[in-house]
Amino acid sequence: MFVLLLGAPGSGKGTQGKIVAERLGLPKITTGDILRAAVRAETPLGLQAKKYMDDGKLVPDAVILSLIKEELAKPEAKEGAVFDGFPRTAAQAELVDTTLGERGQRLSKVLLLDVPEEELLQRLTARAAQENRSDDTPEAIRTRLQVYQRDTAPLVAHYAQRGIVHRVPGTGTIEEIATEIQRIVGR
Ligand code: ADP
Repeated sequence: MFVLLLGAPGSGKGTQGKIVAERLGLPKITTGDILRAAVRAETPLGLQAKKYMDDGKLVPDAVILSLIKEELAKPEAKEGAVFDGFPRTAAQAELVDTTLGERGQRLSKVLLLDVPEEELLQRLTARAAQENRSDDTPEAIRTRLQVYQRDTAPLVAHYAQRGIVHRVPGTGTIEEIATEIQRIVGR
């Protein structure tokens, strides 16, 4: 089963993705983590990506599409995976659809974590004080929220056409939200 967690920055995709992936026994593929590791290791990918990430902008599809291809081709992602942080653009969604389609597979469920904007801002600002992410500056946070609305939110309509979008209120406790996701995913 392939499950996509969709939601704005700060909506809890990482936290809930980890819980659901463990329960399903599937790998979680998180482009943000892969990119941050690449930045730390100063690989060519990391060097290309850093500037965009620090500004809160999307790393260009020209760079990301090959990364996604590589991740989907890994043996552990053969039977299923939980996607966190991608697809984030129409081109990325198309690549995922095509790649899975060629294998006779498809996304089964899109979990849309819904959190009001004020709450997102509060969470991201609080996290900025704890973690040390270089994209948690007020300006980058604002950009990330705008970029989500502009480039990623339209994917909801794309997947809704297929009837696979499940809206999950993202404001309860971690356990409440996890339980709701479990109900939707069926295990
Ligand atoms: P958040 O959802 O809180 O913004 P992520 O870890 O998902 O955090 O992403 C952090 C940054 O990494 C993004 O702002 C962007 O620069 C880059 N990034 C992650 N995933 C993608 C992707 N699929 N396409 C383009 N850029 C990405």
